[in-house]
Amino acid sequence: MKRIYFDYAATTPMDKEVIKTITPYFNEKFGNPGSLHYFGQEAIAAVDASRETIAKTIGANFNEIIFTGSATEANNLALRGAMKTTKPPYRIIVSKIEHESILDTVRDLEKEGAEVIYLPVDKQGSIDLKKLKESLNERTILVSIIYANNEIGTVQPIQEIAKIINDFKEKRSYPLFHTDAVQAFQFLNCDVNNLGIDLMTLSAHKIYGPKGIGALYAANKIQPLITPIITGGGQEFGFRSGTENAPAIVGFAKAIELTSENRAKETKKISELTDYFWREIKKISPKAEINGNANLTTSQAVRLPNILNIFFPGQNAQDLLIKLDINGVAVSSGSACSARAFKPSYVLKAIGLPDNKIKSSLRFSFGKPTTKTEINLALKIIKKVS
Ligand code: PLP
Repeated sequence: MKRIYFDYAATTPMDKEVIKTITPYFNEKFGNPGSLHYFGQEAIAAVDASRETIAKTIGANFNEIIFTGSATEANNLALRGAMKTTKPPYRIIVSKIEHESILDTVRDLEKEGAEVIYLPVDKQGSIDLKKLKESLNERTILVSIIYANNEIGTVQPIQEIAKIINDFKEKRSYPLFHTDAVQAFQFLNCDVNNLGIDLMTLSAHKIYGPKGIGALYAANKIQPLITPIITGGGQEFGFRSGTENAPAIVGFAKAIELTSENRAKETKKISELTDYFWREIKKISPKAEINGNANLTTSQAVRLPNILNIFFPGQNAQDLLIKLDINGVAVSSGSACSARAFKPSYVLKAIGLPDNKIKSSLRFSFGKPTTKTEINLALKIIKKVS
């Protein structure tokens, strides 16, 4: 049976060019980047070149890129690292639809005395900017807003948010502004100067790079306000100790390079496929609805072009997911982690979906390898099992 993967927002296969680039770093060029001899120098040169590539792509400086073991860790470093430099009482502002690696971390920080403001979102999944403005106070040390949501793909107006924060800040150092750009990087401009952010999280495995590698961009001017959460040998400018994962770092840089080179082309291709899929779904299930921003993907400034979260009236999403999987189509009923726990999606709840609609919703996410032939085959299967 031909298997069809429509879960690229959960993870992506490694690009063949990425695999080719990283392979020598597993055996031939295996040195510890911290060693002074030839082998070590060869490895650190590759790590440095990768850092330079990533920095350039997002308009950052070389020493503003901190490699971490995942985007989850980068998010933890941004939040916990900022908290460690200050004393409570302090305030953190996040949206209700952040990834769990932000939400679970702020819940933990609440236990340590942080006051957390959870900004509501509207039906489309857009945050309430007025509420953000009202929530900023002298004690606010960090605002963290996801650039594009992983379940519904809603894109937040990061530049506008940065302006609100900067206007409030005037000459103060706080609040810092962090964005989780893990899902956004593939399709949206992530130039840090253009966005006006202080901290930004990226991940390799969502952009056809290896798993287990992430990065935190931390602007030079705010670095004194971040304290490491993993201490030891002082790697990553002291912000993240542990021997650098050279093959993963090299692969991350290659994935970043390929993604930004092909961004416009891939965006157009995936937008067209997503639009086509949706038009055909409406023929199969006329009462189906897009959860979140229902504008079609030509307006990808408001929703990522690769994510479609669909409400199928009268269907049980878990049953449908299993039936589709049995027939070879892999989709998701939420983000990978919450789906495993079989918890109703907090993102769909936050956009005001009632429980019965949440239980009938599935996420389809398309990727570079997705073809119209695959979509047509999947549509036939959806028609058969729904
Ligand atoms: N942030 C977002 C928006 C994500 O979609 C994910 C992936 O699930 C993460 C963070 C976590 O990334 P990682 O798997 O690299 O820890």
